[in-house]
Amino acid sequence: KQEGRNTYRLFRAEMHVKDHHDLALETALRNTAETGDGLAVHYQPLVDRDSGEVHGAEALLRWTSSEFGPVSPGDFIPLAERSGLILPLGRRLMHLVAGQLRDWRESGLSPPRVAINLSARQFWQSDLVAEVRQLYEDYDLPPGQIGFELTESTLLDKHQQATDTLAALRELGCYIAIDDFGTGYSSLSYLHQLPVTTLKIDRSFVRDLGVSRSSGAILAAVTGLARELGLRVVAEGVETEAQLEALRDYHVTLIQGFLTGRPAPAEDFEARYLRSALV
Ligand code: C2E
Ligand code: CA
Ligand code: CA
Ligand code: CA
Repeated sequence: KQEGRNTYRLFRAEMHVKDHHDLALETALRNTAETGDGLAVHYQPLVDRDSGEVHGAEALLRWTSSEFGPVSPGDFIPLAERSGLILPLGRRLMHLVAGQLRDWRESGLSPPRVAINLSARQFWQSDLVAEVRQLYEDYDLPPGQIGFELTESTLLDKHQQATDTLAALRELGCYIAIDDFGTGYSSLSYLHQLPVTTLKIDRSFVRDLGVSRSSGAILAAVTGLARELGLRVVAEGVETEAQLEALRDYHVTLIQGFLTGRPAPAEDFEARYLRSALV
């Protein structure tokens, strides 16, 4: 009993420290959302395994807090979603990406399409389409230069409204990918009724390839159906040659992972993928 009480106290104390830390982190993130200080974007290539061509890139938000140092997206993105800060942060990210794309284009480079992650809150905000349209205009971007990634759970309800928003984004040429595919509870037939273009197979299935038989079965089912439905398939989180080789059996040609390219700052991405193509 004594021990139980101590454990309880310890638990309370830990909770308190944790709450305090979360609060301090949230305050720091709020400042960052206001000023933009410490925010950066990393770009990870999406590579066609057969041609080696870079088909696109995913924009990934990075935050280095003056107080806490670099904070992992796995920590600050959920915090941003809970607190609503994802809206101003997401807006900043969009402008950083659009500005970078304009810079690249103005220096005569041909950047690939860049995909931006949208949380549910961002997707369901009423002025999303207007904002994206304005972004294309302000930064003079060609149709389709920026696309979006959404998770299954974001798209699960309000079918008509989701369809309308996605259709409006498609009209701007944006491609739409379902992120982390296979980890949610939705069915592919349901998702196919939405105007999406791409499925990104979650990296848990890629990781377990050759280890668990079920991930191979899921991969076969998903890629078969996707092909019939005319959706593109991207494999995420490819880290090893063995995984790349195994994916060949499922005819997955678009690859994103540490093996084909890690997320990198714009300058590195430019040097490696945009300038090297010129020589
Ligand atoms: P995600 O959208 O699934 O992004 C892919 C994550 O997998 C990235 O983690 C990327 O660095 C990592 N990754 C890529 N290749 C590999 C690989 O081969 N192996 C492994 N183990 N990991 C790989 P990151 O950058 O830490 O981002 C984590 C999550 O945070 C993202 O998952 C996304 O859900 C969210 N996120 C990142 N940036 C943004 C953003 O700007 N807006 C929103 N709403 N969410 C974001
Ligand atoms: Ca993503
Ligand atoms: Ca993903
Ligand atoms: Ca994710």
